[in-house]
Amino acid sequence: MGPNYQPDTLCIHAGYSPKNGEPRVVPIVQSTTFRYTTAEAMGRLFNLEDSGHFYTRISNPTTEAVEKKIAELEGGVGCVATSSGMAAIFLSVLNICKAGDHVVSSSAVYGGAFNLFNKTMRDMGIDFTFVPPDVTEEQLEAAMQSNTRAVYCETLSNPSLVVTDLELFAKVAHAHGVPLIVDNTFPTPINCRPFTFGADIVVHSTTKYMDGHAVQMGGAIVDSGKFDWTNGKFPMLTEPDESYHGLIYTKAFGKAAYITKARTHLLRDIGCQPAPENSFLLNLGLETLALRMERHCSNAQKIAEFLDQDDRISWVNYPGLKDSPYHTLAQKYLPHGSCGVISFGVKGGRAAATKFMESLQLASMVVHVADLRTCVLHPASTTHRQLTDEQLAENGISPDMIRMSVGIENVQDILADIQQALEKVQQK
Ligand SMILES: *Cc1c(COP(=O)(O)O)cnc(C)c1O
Repeated sequence: MGPNYQPDTLCIHAGYSPKNGEPRVVPIVQSTTFRYTTAEAMGRLFNLEDSGHFYTRISNPTTEAVEKKIAELEGGVGCVATSSGMAAIFLSVLNICKAGDHVVSSSAVYGGAFNLFNKTMRDMGIDFTFVPPDVTEEQLEAAMQSNTRAVYCETLSNPSLVVTDLELFAKVAHAHGVPLIVDNTFPTPINCRPFTFGADIVVHSTTKYMDGHAVQMGGAIVDSGKFDWTNGKFPMLTEPDESYHGLIYTKAFGKAAYITKARTHLLRDIGCQPAPENSFLLNLGLETLALRMERHCSNAQKIAEFLDQDDRISWVNYPGLKDSPYHTLAQKYLPHGSCGVISFGVKGGRAAATKFMESLQLASMVVHVADLRTCVLHPASTTHRQLTDEQLAENGISPDMIRMSVGIENVQDILADIQQALEKVQQK
């Protein structure tokens, strides 16, 4: 795409430009495999000497179009799409860490990411230190070890809505010669492009706003191409890979070393690629992402302001509110808006929160966020129920927290629904 197109134009056009007689819309290439006429031509693909599709576990034309679109939206050199956001997070770390290595992560991360790091990957021998999201530079420095290989955080955390100081995290990571990996699911590249603040790798759950219609699960890893992997800390990228006849990723692929290895090594071995049909659906979602984000944000701002002045509500957390502790960081990192997710407490604690949620009529109770339909969730009893109260607090979650994902319906209808539900809570 032309380098000067705005993000909303990229949402529609990036990643696919048909030639004469080809389909105008990215087609679903529902084929596991691709034909070649000579063994030599196919051999060159296996040796990574040529690029081309040969097996959908590694790459597929429909998925490739979406990968290119997401890479352009984030301003990266390449993207690998995965079957879920969790798969993207797992691969993003596994691509540069092995047993004996260590990662510093913000504690305000998605519950699934926390479990993956704290249990599953620890059991694999990769250690994690969790730091509070509003950590000082000194505290972050103190968490770094000689075997640290990455720093991890979320731009805007799910569900605690902490805005992370990306430049601080990037500064400390880079001082120790390791990359900053940022989960940018909630703001999407429409509201924040972490590479412009020093992040090196971005991951996404495309299941959320990027899809937006709740029809497919997916994830993405995007490489900025800016990190120098040759400082001696990343032998898996700078030493010969015997499974590719001694190929050295940094020599063969330069700026795209990390993202190429994620595909040719990890997708090959682990096989968490998206189905072509899901990539097609994701692409449809991406086409309207910019438009939807604008509406999600303006609706959420109005609802947050309404809740903030209502005395039946005990607290409201939305970075767009002037009294939010993250308002200053939000103005820096999310100047056009954060996302449609608001968290708040209903006076009367856990019981009132449950009654309120059950009384909503337009908003539905689902384990999902970032849908174009307004939905609500009680994290303490659902997504984060494995966590102890102490871990909940570390993740920035209170037992009375309601997470409302504001959709793109008419905001008057959403407000009326909240009003009537609050009245039912009062009635007892
Ligand atoms: C949902 C979510 C994930 C996990 O993504 P899945 O697609 O559900 O696997 C990771 N990070 C964040 C911030 C999320 O909201």
